[in-house]
Amino acid sequence: MNIILLGPPGAGKGTQAKRLEQTYGVPQLATGDMLRAAVKSGSELGQQAKRVMDAGELMPDDLMVQMIEERIQQPDCAKGFILDGFPRTTAQAEALDSMLTRHGTKLDAVIELKVDEEALVRRITGRYSCAKCGAGYHDEFHNPQTPGVCDACGGTEFRRRDDDNEATVRSRMEAYREQTAPILPYYETAGILWRVDGMADIDEVTRQIDDVLRRAGALDGGA
Ligand code: ADP
Ligand code: ADP
Ligand code: ZN
Repeated sequence: MNIILLGPPGAGKGTQAKRLEQTYGVPQLATGDMLRAAVKSGSELGQQAKRVMDAGELMPDDLMVQMIEERIQQPDCAKGFILDGFPRTTAQAEALDSMLTRHGTKLDAVIELKVDEEALVRRITGRYSCAKCGAGYHDEFHNPQTPGVCDACGGTEFRRRDDDNEATVRSRMEAYREQTAPILPYYETAGILWRVDGMADIDEVTRQIDDVLRRAGALDGGA
């Protein structure tokens, strides 16, 4: 099962990718998470990533392509992967296709989460996650069952992303409109683009994605 979740910041890619990871046992490959880990490590890449992310801009294609190519060769990707946040440009999409061909595999489905832009600001400014396990929550839409205690791991510390503020969100949305949305026709032409209503509630979006995966044949072959 090799799939991409595509959609603007706050569309629900991470939320759904984590659920799919649990259900199907294939890893979520989130380039944003990888970059945040690099920022935390203080590496040179991390310092560059911090500047770019705080500005709501995109990292250079060659760095991101290399990061994903290394990642998909790890043993945990043997049954496939769920890409979340990659590709974000046409150049990344083309590089992904050629690397998959080189590795003797291909994409099963690209799932676009369709959302209303105005709702995104609200989603992003209310977003927070468990500091221990990364489980995602929202001030209005999805709090832990016991207030202050993570449903997934019992952790009691939570964090918010530096770039989840209204000013940065606007530039991230513009980056999506100008650099990422043009990928959609590329996958449409390839006949592997599927659309899901990202404005539905979280469980309903999961149901729609499961339905797509079945129809796309992405669940064949054991994953
Ligand atoms: P992305 O990875 O696409 O940026 P997230 O999965 O992090 O988006 O979701 C952004 C925020 O919106 C999170 O706080 C999440 O809990 C919340 N969220 C995700 N999906 C939905 C949904 N269908 N309805 C309401 N809130 C949602
Ligand atoms: P969101 O979940 O809000 O869509 P991500 O966590 O995926 O955001 O990404 C956060 C930031 O990391 C982006 O705004 C961008 O600066 C950088 N980034 C992540 N993935 C990529 C990529 N594939 N290409 C370029 N920049 C990226
Ligand atoms: Zn947790």
